[in-house]
Amino acid sequence: MARITLRQLLDHAAEHGYGVPAFNINNMEQVLAIMAAAEECDAPVILQASRGARAYAGDVMLAKMVEAAEAMHPTIPICLHQDHGNDEATCFSAIQHGFTSVMMDGSLEADAKTPASYDYNESITRRVAEMAHKVGVSVEGELGVLGSLETGKGDKEDGHGAEGALSHDQLLTDPDQAVAFVRATKVDALAIAMGTSHGAYKFSRKPDGEILAMHVVKAIHERLPGIHLVMHGSSSVPESLQELFNRYGGEMPKTWGVPIEEIQAGIRHGVRKVNIDTDCRLAMAAQIRRIATEKRSEFDPRKFLQPSMDALKTLCRERYEQFGSAGHASKIKPLSLAEMAKRYRAGALDPRIEVSRAA
Ligand SMILES: [Zn+2]
Repeated sequence: MARITLRQLLDHAAEHGYGVPAFNINNMEQVLAIMAAAEECDAPVILQASRGARAYAGDVMLAKMVEAAEAMHPTIPICLHQDHGNDEATCFSAIQHGFTSVMMDGSLEADAKTPASYDYNESITRRVAEMAHKVGVSVEGELGVLGSLETGKGDKEDGHGAEGALSHDQLLTDPDQAVAFVRATKVDALAIAMGTSHGAYKFSRKPDGEILAMHVVKAIHERLPGIHLVMHGSSSVPESLQELFNRYGGEMPKTWGVPIEEIQAGIRHGVRKVNIDTDCRLAMAAQIRRIATEKRSEFDPRKFLQPSMDALKTLCRERYEQFGSAGHASKIKPLSLAEMAKRYRAGALDPRIEVSRAA
């Protein structure tokens, strides 16, 4: 099926009250498994590539893999999204390679590690949104800096993440500032800081409201009911996967991710895109460890990768079902980028901002 923009997909998700998992891709096996899961349960797909993925596989390979996925799964709409774009060049070169959505993460400066000022963030995100919308491409912005409320530190993944100590104010998106940011930048989706972080080590205990600030999601959704919220670092890091990984020689200290029921609560309060990478990595790596341990004479990479794909497919299907996106793919008719551009020009896609009733 034709590629879909993030905006059209999340508008559909909002209308029907579901969330869409966004899975990171770096290689063919991930694309095959994510798409096979989507096909089984008729779920629309967000494939996202970080700068690290683009460097690993190359832009041409990534673009061609997604083209292949479209040809193999004609009834599944696919959004190809740039994860954590650090500047204009990253976002615009993604668009040149067929991405239908870009994240301009101006919460950090272009070095992808220094927390940026609000003014810097607003101005670069507004510039990217202005240009991207002219060609119909969607934009996700980020306000607040991702990091742990337990440690007061940012996290690094694929070379991206805040360095140094972060204040509580930086680690939690301010709802008033979110309104100003969306109004100024006209982003289609907003990633918020609420205590989630990238990687496997998100929480040192099962998270409660103190370290996973779901109240921030609710407060922002109340102020911005028309904006699609994005939860980053939202792998659940299931205990069963940690155990499997460790049973076959892995060394992962006990850790907690974001519980599925918290994500589902977020979906009831405006969360439409849920970023998941660690769970996918862990599902595949555990199988590679298992085969390496159980079949020590095995040297055919496919014998390691087929069980990895099967495990990833199972995980993705679970998330499509848990977030409610299963069953929706065939109901969506993707609009062309030209049609989306026309709607942006006409102001039809301007963010809906409700004036506070309490004012
Ligand atoms: Zn992220």
